[in-house]
Amino acid sequence: MKNTLKLNSYCVKTAERNESTKPHQLPLYLSSSFVMEDSQEAVDIFTGQKKGHVYGRYGNPTIDTVANKIAAMEGFDLAGDAYGFLTSSGMSAITTLMMSTLQAGDSVLTQGNLYGGSTELLKKILFRMGVNTIFTNLQNLEEVEHIIKNNSNIRMLYFETPANPTMACIDIKAINTIASKYAVPTAIDNTFCTPYLQRPLSLGTDYVIHSTTKYLNGHGNSIAGAIIASDYDASRKIWETLKLNGSTCNPFDAWLLSNGLKTLAIRMDKHSSNAQKIAEYLQQHDKVTHVNYNGLKDHPDHEIASKQMSQFGGMLSFSVQGGQAEALATIDRLKCCTHAPTLGDVDTLVLHPATSSHLNVDKQIREENGITDGMIRVSVGIEDIDDLINDFKQALDQLY
Ligand SMILES: *Cc1c(COP(=O)(O)O)cnc(C)c1O
Repeated sequence: MKNTLKLNSYCVKTAERNESTKPHQLPLYLSSSFVMEDSQEAVDIFTGQKKGHVYGRYGNPTIDTVANKIAAMEGFDLAGDAYGFLTSSGMSAITTLMMSTLQAGDSVLTQGNLYGGSTELLKKILFRMGVNTIFTNLQNLEEVEHIIKNNSNIRMLYFETPANPTMACIDIKAINTIASKYAVPTAIDNTFCTPYLQRPLSLGTDYVIHSTTKYLNGHGNSIAGAIIASDYDASRKIWETLKLNGSTCNPFDAWLLSNGLKTLAIRMDKHSSNAQKIAEYLQQHDKVTHVNYNGLKDHPDHEIASKQMSQFGGMLSFSVQGGQAEALATIDRLKCCTHAPTLGDVDTLVLHPATSSHLNVDKQIREENGITDGMIRVSVGIEDIDDLINDFKQALDQLY
């Protein structure tokens, strides 16, 4: 008998796989669950004695391959392994990390100039869950030590360097040294740098998170995040939290990220060299009052950045003479650059912080932090440098 099933049952079943040689590129697995060969295998996998994919919310081959790759990149200099997880967004990476490491009564110590969403998460959501946040200037190391020493509830030091939009930097090694003296775990948002430019695990940071939506993917077509831990036990807690809060990355976004990662090194090289040239060009333009770029020797944190970053990346900001009206007019005149609220894409993006990312920050606090009404943030792309400089030139030359 050739057919053991009737044709209508045959339709339902997946046909015998026509798989022989290994695919050259990572396949996109769209299967919400995985088949157990026999009951013994099911028992072994569920009890953790055997590794195997079970259910898509716990991960799948596409997702886990990419997570492992990012972990290997962040852990490149470590003697041992690092452990990585992909999440549904950068924000879910931060949420999952906080949920897996903190409980009611704990406090987080962090900086005032975090990514806006991170600040809101801490102030609105985690606060309601009983986790308090202390905001301070993490560049002031004496103050940091003083706060940690006098508050045993601090169970996480969370930071970003360089920080948006002034590119203020924190000395990663120094901050980790203080935190570890008081056994406080540290976590960094490494979105702006990627492991190609900065590897915080090698400087003693316990956790790295990413919005892979930005540079790691680089093409502006997926939303995802990553959490990397250097400690195995800590990584198990993250995995448990992730599978229970259900914010695992979807396979398609993981697959897009996998494509983007292949060109990370050449993209970051070009982002960095283009940004340096644009920063230098803007600095000498008579309609520009100030440029914030870590690669400029007069940036207040140039030295810290030089110590911990291999190149200075693609993010910069500058202020035009005048104020909001002049900044907005400049943005509207740009032709090669696009006005969009993201960063890290291959094309150059501009944004007006005072009316977007920092809209809800008091003008006085904004100005104290160097975020003027005339400031424009630039995520420098990988286009030909001449086209970019000409674009800024024609837009700025039209002022007045
Ligand atoms: C975009 C961004 C996030 C949030 O990431 P999503 O992928 O949008 O959730 C967090 N941190 C930084 C530095 C970011 O730029």
